[in-house]
Amino acid sequence: MSAFINNSDVSRINFLAGKKAAVVSKDTLKVLAAAKEIGIESGGAFDITVRPLMKLWRQGQSGDIPDNAGITAAKSLMGLQKLMFSDEMNRAFLSIKGGAIDLGGIAKGFAADEAVKIITSAGIKNAVINFGGNIVAVGFNKRKPWCVGVQNPTAPRGENIGSLFVTDKSVVTSGVNERFFIIDGQLYHHIIDPRTGYPAKSGLLSVTVVAENSMTADALSTAAFVLGEDKSLPLLRKYNCEAVFARESGEIYCTDGLRDNFQAADKISF
Ligand code: ADP
Ligand code: MG
Repeated sequence: MSAFINNSDVSRINFLAGKKAAVVSKDTLKVLAAAKEIGIESGGAFDITVRPLMKLWRQGQSGDIPDNAGITAAKSLMGLQKLMFSDEMNRAFLSIKGGAIDLGGIAKGFAADEAVKIITSAGIKNAVINFGGNIVAVGFNKRKPWCVGVQNPTAPRGENIGSLFVTDKSVVTSGVNERFFIIDGQLYHHIIDPRTGYPAKSGLLSVTVVAENSMTADALSTAAFVLGEDKSLPLLRKYNCEAVFARESGEIYCTDGLRDNFQAADKISF
């Protein structure tokens, strides 16, 4: 599903965009369907056709910040209505040449859910899976819920703003700290608001989503980061998810369902 591996399903969909449908696996179809659904539910904040914009912003890292014309051109290649797929025919098609999908906001969650299936079918009842920030806590840690740290969005990896105590839940964070660059004092990061074409600016430094399913948590954490706190709450509710928001103003907000599961760290600042 990587857009960086030449013959992956995603690369073939992108290569054949505007020409013909690519034959893809059931797993890829499952992720495409989930991505499209959450994309629509999020009003386009989550949009896997974002790759043309990602490419522009990746070039931006070398100092070449995209201009308005470039952003408008990239945006014209996007849109979930251009992505079609058929489960029966095992095919997916992007209807515009130059269009491209990127499953970076959702595929890790799918992989984490698959890993849970593998370990539980092997008889393992208690475990923590960590796929680079996509965490799944399965069962218990010595009869108690697992403790999952919530990363401080402005501190080095491992410094937490608090802890979540969870069992049989996935915990996924999207934020500014994982991948970003600074040019002329301006911070640019890797989550793009498809509506503006710029890195999302919604008053958040990070959002951590807690859900039953890691694929949902992954897509929703990216969507919520783009939408911001207020606008993401109805979406999170719809998918029965809870979240911890780290606001730009330095405060933490956690949704009601996590009140007994989240413990803020002492003396944090971000
Ligand atoms: P991480 O990759 O750090 O775990 P996310 O799950 O939030 O973080 O995903 C960010 C990735 O998702 C980006 O690197 C890019 O591949 C993709 N992406 C960026 N913006 C969007 C968006 N608005 N909708 C869908 N995918 C996005
Ligand atoms: Mg994500």
